[in-house]
Amino acid sequence: MNMTEWKKEIINTAARFTESSADNFISDSSAITPKLAGLRIFQEPLIAYGSADDPLFSRLKDENIIGRHFILPDEWLHGAKTVISFFLPFTEQIRKSNKMNFSWPSDEWLHGRIEGQVFVNRLANHIRGMLIKAGYQSLVPSVDSRFTASTGDPSKSAYKQTGAGVPPFSSNWSERHAAFICGLGTFGLSKGLITGKGIAGRFGSIITELQLEPDQRNYSVIYEYCTMCGACVKNCPAGAISLEKGKDHYLCSKFLDRTMEEHHPRYGCGKCQVGVPCENRIPVKKNL
Ligand code: SF4
Ligand code: SF4
Repeated sequence: MNMTEWKKEIINTAARFTESSADNFISDSSAITPKLAGLRIFQEPLIAYGSADDPLFSRLKDENIIGRHFILPDEWLHGAKTVISFFLPFTEQIRKSNKMNFSWPSDEWLHGRIEGQVFVNRLANHIRGMLIKAGYQSLVPSVDSRFTASTGDPSKSAYKQTGAGVPPFSSNWSERHAAFICGLGTFGLSKGLITGKGIAGRFGSIITELQLEPDQRNYSVIYEYCTMCGACVKNCPAGAISLEKGKDHYLCSKFLDRTMEEHHPRYGCGKCQVGVPCENRIPVKKNL
């Protein structure tokens, strides 16, 4: 297969897997309530391809962006050529349910957040398996043993005291930054990534030694698609977003902890991703 055929093959494989995999549907045994059995989690994914040696990946090691703990594609997989990034938009049922109130996550959203992440990993591994079978070493950073993420309390951070490990609310691979570099979309005020199918959904990625033509980025600045409308500010039950300061990850995390206390092992919120102009599309900027 040439590069164009490979790109189409990956897109078609991901679409088929999303359509038919039982993991994209809530099973009878895992449903929070019986009526949620069979709930579909994601719609068809968007997929984009970036060069593993895109200079923007190196810039993520800047302390003002992610930091030196960020691992480059070629450090994850020696000889890496391409980063494949995907966005799985939540189904309308999941998005709609989370708009019933703006104080507490819906059961559907909790499924999307937790069982949804399981599906994200399955899809990434499915694509990885297909590439390995074709003879191309490939790796999924988010399920690799070196992957580290921290959501801890900044005041208790060992990183602050010793400089070791990963700082609070950071990780050594970022799906959203990878998606930005691959051309899937730009950041919003709420720190989600706004794609052609909106912000409500989840991201995944695969690093591979298969060489593919990188996609064009149809933007040049990191908040280009965000209109700064402030709808996510109003929706946030934790007061964690402001037009002046952006997102306070600590306040958001404290709210997520409260949802975990109630719904363990699930948690979630996502009010900044629903009932907003960027929910399922790139918002239209009004001419001033
Ligand atoms: S709701 Fe408005 S301000 Fe918030 S991320 Fe979306 S477009 Fe930006
Ligand atoms: S910033 Fe956090 S707490 Fe606020 S709406 Fe978004 S997910 Fe919820």
